[in-house]
Amino acid sequence: MSFAPTSGTPASSTSTPASDASASTTAVCAPGVIEVSSLGSHAAPVRCPHCAATAVTRVEYSAGRTTRVCAVATSLLLSPAAGFVPYLIDGTKDKKHFCGSCGTLLAVWHRSGRLEIAAEKARDGEEKEQNGALMEQMLTLALVQEGAES
Ligand SMILES: [Zn+2]
Repeated sequence: MSFAPTSGTPASSTSTPASDASASTTAVCAPGVIEVSSLGSHAAPVRCPHCAATAVTRVEYSAGRTTRVCAVATSLLLSPAAGFVPYLIDGTKDKKHFCGSCGTLLAVWHRSGRLEIAAEKARDGEEKEQNGALMEQMLTLALVQEGAES
């Protein structure tokens, strides 16, 4: 380290980003990395569609339809007061997969075995939101024109 010439240091640092970029592209094809659509009930390494990072998902329990069905069943079979019990049992809950890198909700795994891709849903919502904003603008314009005419 000490014998390295100081003039050589900048040259080696400029070559580093290029090698880093090639390293990250190979990391994408790393074995074990699965598609978001292939996620199951357990945390798994996926490539995040938002930040493009390959990270193991963070799984959070979330009360879903199965939890509610269990709550209704226990409150009918035992007592209405027991209806909250399924909400305390993780085994009745859906699992939310969050990106291990940026924390974006990627998918929700339902107890029924169905996987809901959250990324696609979010994109749809965004489009609808934009359409809504456009409609609002057009309505405001129409109102302003009406006001100007009268
Ligand atoms: Zn991410």
